[in-house]
Amino acid sequence: MNKDKFPSELRLDKASGNWVVIATGRAKRPESFKKVKNGSIKESNKDCFFCNIETQGEPLLVYYKGKKVEGIKKWTTVVIPNKFPAFIRSKSLNRKKRGEFFETMNAVGAHEVVITKNHNKSLALLSLAEVKEVIDVYTDRYNSLIKEDGINYVAIFHNHGPEAGASVAHPHSQIAGIPLIDYDLKKALAKSKKYKKDGDCIYCRMNDWELKEKERIVYENEHFIALCPFTSKVAFQVIISPKKHLSHFENITEQEKESLADAFRTVLRKLYKALGDPAYNFYLHSAPSDNDDHLYYHWHWTILPKTSIWAGFELGVGIEISTIEPEEAAKYLRNQKI
Ligand SMILES: [Zn+2]
Ligand SMILES: [Zn+2]
Repeated sequence: MNKDKFPSELRLDKASGNWVVIATGRAKRPESFKKVKNGSIKESNKDCFFCNIETQGEPLLVYYKGKKVEGIKKWTTVVIPNKFPAFIRSKSLNRKKRGEFFETMNAVGAHEVVITKNHNKSLALLSLAEVKEVIDVYTDRYNSLIKEDGINYVAIFHNHGPEAGASVAHPHSQIAGIPLIDYDLKKALAKSKKYKKDGDCIYCRMNDWELKEKERIVYENEHFIALCPFTSKVAFQVIISPKKHLSHFENITEQEKESLADAFRTVLRKLYKALGDPAYNFYLHSAPSDNDDHLYYHWHWTILPKTSIWAGFELGVGIEISTIEPEEAAKYLRNQKI
């Protein structure tokens, strides 16, 4: 291998417009991809890397019982650099053509891990104050990464359970600061920009409609609505979005953070109870920080319980098949007493 090669590379397919990351940080050998039986992940906290946080290098941010602190002696939520980053800080993108059809550039950016202290308590089982602390940490790191040169987008995501791709059992989220914009988000930005031209936000109007219809609402509080979208991608998909038009996640207020923590905790607890601690992924979509202000966008969180896996139809046709009416799923979640 070329010794000057950046350890993680972005590759563009001009036919589809899609980028992929070839992240070789873990240096997997071809034979290590062979299927092994029993994909279960380590449950014991004795050998857990995250329970032994002092072995994980210099933390980027430490919180203890709701307050930012120095040092790692006492912590309840901590952010550390990802040991196997898909995105790495560098001054040069080194964007290059590869033949007629492809382009590559260095996967420049940042890749961090947010860890909550208790090995056995997933987000659904945390107290409101503990979930609020996670939201505080998300916003703190989001605000600092979005301002960095070379970072145009900050992705916050969480994988719960091995079926959802969590390779470490200890509850953790990830934050990636990346130089380009998510393909789906790009499409959504273009659509909402077009709608805004006629003077309105498509997401605000959709929320108004959902509040009138009521049947897909799972939960609402002062600032947020949680609902199973009309076009749910998977069974029990939930979107949490602000009632007010908010385009940039970095501008969230203290009150909104409290309200978001409440909405998150309520939805995750309802899913936990209704589906028996399902595996799930959740992620944020917010306005990027490139050369457009994107004020027409409306940020939101998407929670996707792993109720099915993408099979041939979904992969080949690109249309997901959900096996329950979103109205039915919302009703079931709404009625869960937590
Ligand atoms: Zn642990
Ligand atoms: Zn809006």
